[in-house]
Amino acid sequence: MYDLKDLYQEVIVDHNRSPRNFGKLEEASHVLEGYNPLCGDRLKLYVKLKDDKIENIAFDGSGCAISVASASLMTEALKGKKMSEAEGIFQSFHEMVTSNSAVMDYDKMGKLVAIAGVRDYPTRVKCATLCWHTLHSIIKGEVAPVSTE
Ligand code: ZN
Repeated sequence: MYDLKDLYQEVIVDHNRSPRNFGKLEEASHVLEGYNPLCGDRLKLYVKLKDDKIENIAFDGSGCAISVASASLMTEALKGKKMSEAEGIFQSFHEMVTSNSAVMDYDKMGKLVAIAGVRDYPTRVKCATLCWHTLHSIIKGEVAPVSTE
């Protein structure tokens, strides 16, 4: 039998062990650190915005498996996306991890559904959404661009 839970667990383990887009992004136009005091996750997000597009995105720092895997999957999902698309994915992701009635739509969300299992563990939701809230602040313009002077 094919167990979805095992598959999702595998995605999380894989992305925690070898996070994608991990490391400082020198060309970043926006940099913001997210901190989750409940767990101690501290992840810094680097985003290069050009016009209305996320041209490049990366993160570094340290955190638990869920926070790191979620950040890794997020950067993979959002690289090259328009900010309006990223905002839509943020809303869907947030609903997926906080609402028990939200549908886990693999076609729409791809590997991000692997993270949705945290909704059974309320204390881990903050880990899973940490990097997303950081990104959301950047998209909403609450973070000033990095000065290149
Ligand atoms: Zn955590």
